[in-house]
Amino acid sequence: MIGASFIGLEVASALRARDIEVDVVAPDARPMERVLGPQLGDFVRALHEEHGVRFHLEDTVKAIDGTRVMLKGGQALDADLVVVGVGVHPRIELAQASGLALDRGVLVNSFLETSAAGVYAAGDIARWPDRHSGEPMRVEHWVVALRQGQTAARNMLGAREAFDAVPFFWSQHYDVPINYVGHAERWDRIDVDGDIQARDCVVRYQRGGRVLAVASIFRDIDSLKAELTLEQQAVPA
Ligand SMILES: Cc1cc2nc3c(=O)[nH]c(=O)nc-3n(C[C@H](O)[C@H](O)[C@H](O)COP(=O)(O)OP(=O)(O)OC[C@H]3O[C@@H](n4cnc5c(N)ncnc54)[C@H](O)[C@@H]3O)c2cc1C
Repeated sequence: MIGASFIGLEVASALRARDIEVDVVAPDARPMERVLGPQLGDFVRALHEEHGVRFHLEDTVKAIDGTRVMLKGGQALDADLVVVGVGVHPRIELAQASGLALDRGVLVNSFLETSAAGVYAAGDIARWPDRHSGEPMRVEHWVVALRQGQTAARNMLGAREAFDAVPFFWSQHYDVPINYVGHAERWDRIDVDGDIQARDCVVRYQRGGRVLAVASIFRDIDSLKAELTLEQQAVPA
């Protein structure tokens, strides 16, 4: 498995459930640290190691030769199957050729309308002005794409409805679901309430004294409450 983020590790747990040996290669020091921080990153690593996954971190793949995967660090791994989960880029060529305003995605206003009147964008490709963080945001979550599609459709029909849902996703590793609500690309403080190792926790990502996102394990009510709080702390449009 190349990549130790959501796709990589969800695939790893699915393969281990089928008793297939898994090696994970990734440049990160900890799996999922960029999104979930060091505390949950260490937990996720330990969880996968408990299930027999072998990590090769702070390393990358130099070459794949038939069934042999060569790492930059010098190690060679035998593999019948190599899965690459290293992130995606939105395909913006069509939008670019059409002259739409872009910023690593298609820029939209709060009604999900692009710089061309009457042309809307929704889902992974759209960067919208997020009222909760006060920053332009583009995320790759199923529920966001679904809700934005609905808002864009209503606006095409003339509703003039601002998109202001708080992003949400979950990620399942073996029998452990991690719920995540909000969006924090950067933080200056992480508060852990409960016990991560005991799989009973709420982790709050904060910047400048504001909670931007909350991850939780087996604390669904707290996750819903956090979603409500994040909705209510929206920066007025
Ligand atoms: C392997 C994988 C696992 C994922 N797991 C999760 C998960 O567990 N939870 C979660 O919340 N999210 C997950 N995601 C992300 C989620 O799938 C996306 O956020 C969601 O599909 C975005 O929907 P979308 O409609 O914006 O884009 P897409 O689903 O990518 O749909 C875009 C469509 O546009 C078409 N298209 C592209 N260019 C053109 C063109 N020029 N003309 C016409 N059509 C075009 C494409 O063919 C495609 O059908 C996962 C993604 C991947 C790849």
